[in-house]
Amino acid sequence: QIAVDGVSKTYRSESGPVHALDDVSFGVGRGEFVSIVGPSGSGKSTVFRIVAGLEAATEGEVRVEGLPVTGPGPDRGMVFQDDALFPWRTVAKNVAYGLEEVGPPEGVTVEERVDHCLDLVGLTEKASAYPKELSGGQRQRVGIARALAVDPPILLMDEPFGSVDARTKASLHRELLDIWAETRKTICFVTHDIEEAVYLSDRIVVFSGGPGTVRDEITVDLSRPRDRTGDDFTAVKR
Ligand code: ATP
Ligand code: MG
Repeated sequence: QIAVDGVSKTYRSESGPVHALDDVSFGVGRGEFVSIVGPSGSGKSTVFRIVAGLEAATEGEVRVEGLPVTGPGPDRGMVFQDDALFPWRTVAKNVAYGLEEVGPPEGVTVEERVDHCLDLVGLTEKASAYPKELSGGQRQRVGIARALAVDPPILLMDEPFGSVDARTKASLHRELLDIWAETRKTICFVTHDIEEAVYLSDRIVVFSGGPGTVRDEITVDLSRPRDRTGDDFTAVKR
């Protein structure tokens, strides 16, 4: 469903060119949960922004459903590391944001859609609160609800749980897996936390190398049951 094909990205900065990505290729199948893991500076956020359509590749191409990505679209929901909520909007108005442009799914009102999405992330009672009145984990859940509201087939997440404590993170993980199981969305999840990636995903794409160097890309297959009961799995490098 997502094909990243020979993508390179060079940033032109005052101190010279920065090669953030060098000939990176990988795919994400429909309904798959794929994590992108790698050290700081390995180009994870860069590839996230290119797949999201927020930034253009220097070389290569990203295709979604066979069509080249030329910008953001309602087929790809985005969740950012810093929740990126509108502080002047209530929780409900934040979740409604994307719906103002594309409208709610057929047969439901905007209000019903917002209620449904807040229910998915367990925040119904916070609908009229403002972002500053929420905890970090709650704000991340609003970000997820906002991305889900337009019902995109693909969810792109860039270190969405980087700034929440371990216990909150664990409950957000379970919530995300529930949502994933229920909606069967394709999820592309960026993290530097390999344990998080192993727990959540079907497959892990590893970006290696330090800042400013050319990177390899390894795909690790995790043959584990999709129901995610039990913690036994085998990692097969290929
Ligand atoms: P982190 O785990 O710290 O979020 P990352 O893997 O997401 O790191 P990127 O943000 O994709 O890494 O950055 C990859 C490289 O590109 C880094 O060397 C970074 O300094 C550089 N870079 C990113 N954005 C820009 C930009 N707008 N201008 C110039 N260089 C950039
Ligand atoms: Mg990043």
